[in-house]
Amino acid sequence: MSLAEVKELKSPVKKWVPAKKQLFINGKWVDAKSGKTFDVENPATGDIVAQVAEGDKADIDEAVKAARKAFESGPWKDMSASERGKIVWKIGDLILKYADELAELESLDNGKPLAVAGAADVPLSADLFHYMAGWTTKIKGDTFPISTDHFYTPGQKYLTYTQREPIGVVGQIIPWNFPLLMAAWKLGPVLAAGNTVVLKPAEQTPLSALRLAEIIQEAGVPDGVLNVITGFGETAGASLAAHDGVDKVAFTGSTEVGKMIVQAAAGNLKRVTLELGGKSPNIVYADVHDVEATAAGCASAIFFNHGQCCCAGSRLYIEKPIFNDVVKAISEVAKKMKVGPGLASPDMGPLVSQEQFEKVKGYIKSGQDDGAKCEVGGGTVGDKGYFVEPTVLTNTNDKMKVITEEIFGPVVAAEPFDNAEEVMARSNNSSYGLAAAVWTSDLKKAINTADAFRAGTVWVNTYNIFDAALPFGGYKQSGWGREMGSEILDAYTETKSVVIAK
Ligand code: ADP
Repeated sequence: MSLAEVKELKSPVKKWVPAKKQLFINGKWVDAKSGKTFDVENPATGDIVAQVAEGDKADIDEAVKAARKAFESGPWKDMSASERGKIVWKIGDLILKYADELAELESLDNGKPLAVAGAADVPLSADLFHYMAGWTTKIKGDTFPISTDHFYTPGQKYLTYTQREPIGVVGQIIPWNFPLLMAAWKLGPVLAAGNTVVLKPAEQTPLSALRLAEIIQEAGVPDGVLNVITGFGETAGASLAAHDGVDKVAFTGSTEVGKMIVQAAAGNLKRVTLELGGKSPNIVYADVHDVEATAAGCASAIFFNHGQCCCAGSRLYIEKPIFNDVVKAISEVAKKMKVGPGLASPDMGPLVSQEQFEKVKGYIKSGQDDGAKCEVGGGTVGDKGYFVEPTVLTNTNDKMKVITEEIFGPVVAAEPFDNAEEVMARSNNSSYGLAAAVWTSDLKKAINTADAFRAGTVWVNTYNIFDAALPFGGYKQSGWGREMGSEILDAYTETKSVVIAK
């Protein structure tokens, strides 16, 4: 496998990237109080593309103070719902206006193929803001016919109702696999509901969140409503999660760090939502109409975004009669995939960082040491950058680390199965429960399998379909709560019950 060629950077990004990037606090761009910065790398080459401010506790304090002031003084929460909706809508419009630039920035920083960033990350981000803009005018409560007046205060009548109010200051911590989209998933609903926010992007990929801050300011969001602090997880992230001035923390990332967030949040019992890891089962029944098309779907389930998806279909269970055919077909797809720098729009780019590169290589080795066979892949590509070959493992068993742990790389393990009962038990035998899929031509089997999965999202004869309207989140250790849909607004509002004596 050879590396594809890199394209020249287009001018807007070229101009934007080399400048020193600061923190965004109270509508102003400022250095970290410590004066420190950290390097941002192009994972395709290992070159430094930018330096950004290294925010820590002191900067988080400042950002939380700004967010609190903006919340209390009310320019955002007290704005009419329709005005707020128009501004949130405009964020979506501006993302589309700057789509080419954002796609390029995302590809440069994260390594993903430019074409994928342009066709998925950017439009989905715009969609999310457009969808959430529609909700600002529809956040509402209920009225209730209460009964206690009959025995508790005989004769007295009451008007009782609920209203939903913004929670207040929200801390949001996001990962590096979809930097812009994860920022959109978090910021769309938090802003629609009238909260103020401190966002901490992942240290590996801070650039698109900084550009998004500029866009959000351009859309007309008042100063202090959005603050962005770039920095490391153990410092900036940890102090945001623990901060007493923060009313809610929303986190997307590893299950391991999710557990730390819960502990950090306990100090002031702030609200917590978590979107965490996964080890998604992907079941293929022998009755599928088209083995080749199914294998192509299963390949994209794992290789999309280089396997760096919390919902990647990494455990592939294939019914015995077609096991060899599907493995052969998915291996063929993997063999043909063009691996190269994201800006050259290959099928697969580099992993995001040296750390991730080493981690994924370590998992492949551990599988091989445990007796797994690499049907295809298993190696790295080129002599710079973090390229790992798309890899298909067989001869694994349910106890191996490659089956039980999240690899977060382009590595799928294919295992045969005999019957539905057995494969369901094996599929659900995981501490995770984020997503799952089944491929079959039998409608009844599809519905029964969808029912039986212990997972927050189930795909049937497809994979990786997301929509701003559709809740996404996990059972078990894959998280607390759901992202997107109307459900997320409940996670960014408090319910107030009001009782009025008539
Ligand atoms: P990954 O292992 O995929 O890099 P992480 O869960 O470590 O994912 O990171 C996701 C986000 O969580 C990043 O923004 C990172 O900086 C942040 N983070 C990491 N450690 C902590 C921590 N102890 N407290 C708060 N945030 C953290």
